[in-house]
Amino acid sequence: MKTFLLQIYTPNGKYFDGYVEELLVATEEYVLGILPNHAPLVAKVIVSKLTIITANSKKKYAVSEGLLQVKKEEVTLLVDAIESKDEIDIERARRAKERATSRLANRVNIDIARAEKALIRANNRISVYEDE
Ligand code: ATP
Repeated sequence: MKTFLLQIYTPNGKYFDGYVEELLVATEEYVLGILPNHAPLVAKVIVSKLTIITANSKKKYAVSEGLLQVKKEEVTLLVDAIESKDEIDIERARRAKERATSRLANRVNIDIARAEKALIRANNRISVYEDE
């Protein structure tokens, strides 16, 4: 199988740097399946599940908002946060969900958009963690 170079950066630095066979990533418009020689593009990544397929593994990640850049032989992702399924602290995600849910239920003196985004991130982490 042909491969391409994938690099993933977060505000903490380089998270991933290696050759992969396929990347499944959700943008505002589509879930893209990126294979070698994909057409160049730049797109906004949404809070979602991301899948990296290499010769011997298929690994799932929870990803926060970011930017995807596809060049000829190289794909770069800049994301606010990314955790592989086994890096997700499920109790923390459940607590974040509870916090956001109760803020949204009370709706007094809160930043609704911020709480909604926190809830989406928490639900995404929970869903990636629980994914088969
Ligand atoms: P919390 O309220 O629990 O901090 P959050 O959605 O506000 O959640 P982020 O701002 O998205 O957190 O992420 C901050 C940092 O913490 C990132 O490095 C992210 O990877 C990490 N992180 C957040 N939640 C979890 C989790 N449940 N498990 C593992 N890492 C997490």
